[in-house]
Amino acid sequence: MDAKQLSVRLTTVGAFVPQGARLADIGSDHAYLPANLALNRRISYGVAGEVVKGPFENAQHEIEKLRLGDHLVARLADGLAAIQPADQIDTITIAGMGGPLIRHILTQGPAALIGVKRLVLQPNVGEATVRDWLAHNQFKITAERILAEDGHTYEVIVADRTTESVHYTPAEQLFGPFLVAEKSPVFVAKWQRELQRSQSAVAQMQQAKVAPTAHLAAAETKIKLIEGVLSDVGK
Ligand code: SAM
Repeated sequence: MDAKQLSVRLTTVGAFVPQGARLADIGSDHAYLPANLALNRRISYGVAGEVVKGPFENAQHEIEKLRLGDHLVARLADGLAAIQPADQIDTITIAGMGGPLIRHILTQGPAALIGVKRLVLQPNVGEATVRDWLAHNQFKITAERILAEDGHTYEVIVADRTTESVHYTPAEQLFGPFLVAEKSPVFVAKWQRELQRSQSAVAQMQQAKVAPTAHLAAAETKIKLIEGVLSDVGK
């Protein structure tokens, strides 16, 4: 993979960046995503934010190599601190990290979010906590994708700022409102695996001398939700 040839995962994230966007890609690593979008004239301006020096230098190198310096800047910064008011960022992508870290990053920078109309998020795990943050911060999920690549399953969550109040049921939060309505084969396979994992976790907890009550209850609730969603699959 490089800026000219993105993975299916990053292509899917990029597909939801509006034409002409002013984009901040947080946790950009090599800046492949914003560099690809700048090369294809999909964004008018981009910031590639990175908190670690090595990846930040990779991003700088990629931008120089592709001569994208007029449209794309790499910044060494923690999370949304990469965004400056003059950037007038309207779209943020955060991909390839855990949901709790994505949530933490979003929580740390309310000022940077002021002009932001769209978030395109790709948590590797912990999608529910991201959806919970969105619902509590007036971002409404407007599209979702689930895909399998190189033996991993990825979810992409697109959320647009809204003035409406947003609420997701526990099932929508866990599975994704669009993904649970669609129940694609990748979705079904993911949740069949998760069901097995949760069932063996429960069996192990039940054998413990002192059963971890809260964890057990959470796993049992999750199992019920998954069983409910999978109950009509294949009928
Ligand atoms: N976004 C790229 C992708 O999806 O392929 C790179 C994903 S890489 C696994 C995660 C990157 O996020 C790493 O380069 C890491 O240094 C960076 N990162 C982690 N926490 C960060 C934070 N708080 N602020 C900025 N970057 C962060």
